[in-house]
Amino acid sequence: MGLLLAGALAFGYWSYAGKKHVMGELTEASEGATEVQAELEKLTQALEEAKEKLEEAEPAAKQLEAVKESFTNGVVLQDYEAFIKAQKGPVTSERQLGLGALRLLTNGADDPETISAFQKAMEMAEWSSRLKSICAAQRALAAAGQKVKVLADCVAEPSDSKAHKKGHAVHWDYAGDMGPENWGDEFPTCGKGTKQAPLNITGPFEKSKDVLVVNYKEGPLKILNNGHTIQVNVEPGSTLKINKDVFNLLQFHFHRPSEEQIDGKPMAMVAHFVHKNADGKLAVLGVLLNDGKDNAAIQTLWNNAPKAQGPEVVVDKVKFDPSSLVPAALTHYNYEGSLTTPPCTEGVSFYILKTPVEIGKKQVMDFPFKRNARPVQPLNGRKINAN
Ligand SMILES: [Zn+2]
Repeated sequence: MGLLLAGALAFGYWSYAGKKHVMGELTEASEGATEVQAELEKLTQALEEAKEKLEEAEPAAKQLEAVKESFTNGVVLQDYEAFIKAQKGPVTSERQLGLGALRLLTNGADDPETISAFQKAMEMAEWSSRLKSICAAQRALAAAGQKVKVLADCVAEPSDSKAHKKGHAVHWDYAGDMGPENWGDEFPTCGKGTKQAPLNITGPFEKSKDVLVVNYKEGPLKILNNGHTIQVNVEPGSTLKINKDVFNLLQFHFHRPSEEQIDGKPMAMVAHFVHKNADGKLAVLGVLLNDGKDNAAIQTLWNNAPKAQGPEVVVDKVKFDPSSLVPAALTHYNYEGSLTTPPCTEGVSFYILKTPVEIGKKQVMDFPFKRNARPVQPLNGRKINAN
């Protein structure tokens, strides 16, 4: 589709080595919005015409000015906004991303609405395809002169295995220059957010009236090492009910030691079960793993977890039931927090179960990440609920 291509084209992506990849990614991310095809084709054509002029203007600011000249009246943005408003049901993340791209074209990167449109797109995107949306938004912002470093995963050309292997610099980490205290340089919410996670869980507590029902189902084991943790992706059908609200389990992953502290102390590890409801709201169920007996479910995962960073592996012979990691008692601590990894998006409800599950000492040692826990964050007046 032309719209997002246009966003990419406008800021000189054609001069980048990764041009084809960016375009492919953006095109793929925006499949399905054929209704605006006519407007988009016009836009693409206009951009093609502006292309020569832009190629001459090297600095990003000049390019931006040239693009703005090409779209002075903002009609295209208005058309697209009207189109989105006319849609029944929720706006898709792809359309939201398109809106961000078009705002960038029409109003420029200084327009706060541009930034918030991209941020919203990132928040809305499916967990499994979040990287794609983040890449598109990061590239657009970076190209527009915003101080956004583009993730290594976005820079690498997936179709070119050589480039992929070579160019895998880590863009955020748990220590050093890219450590948690500096995440805010690249991911503003990590630094400026006021409802960040994890927390040190300590009283006084308010009473939690939330009733949890875990209904996880056995499915094929899809496991990956994403360079920051071991993650298991879950097929649709496993749910967490919070009162009457149904959240679908998307994935679960591990941190060592536990990111959450109880009265100032972490446990050996924690498993985070990440869920999303129909409105796109995220809820994380945390199961603390305490030093003790070997855990058979953990052993199954560790036996199949890739040692090095790479794509998801589907283990044919192995079925896994996520509920094998969840204790029977669902009494919990609850608070509003954020993703504990960049981009640290807020609006995530945490339910940390009070009952830990045991894990063997050697099993903790066998987890391929020595330390992958974000430090605890300021409470900033938030209430922690408990039942
Ligand atoms: Zn986590």
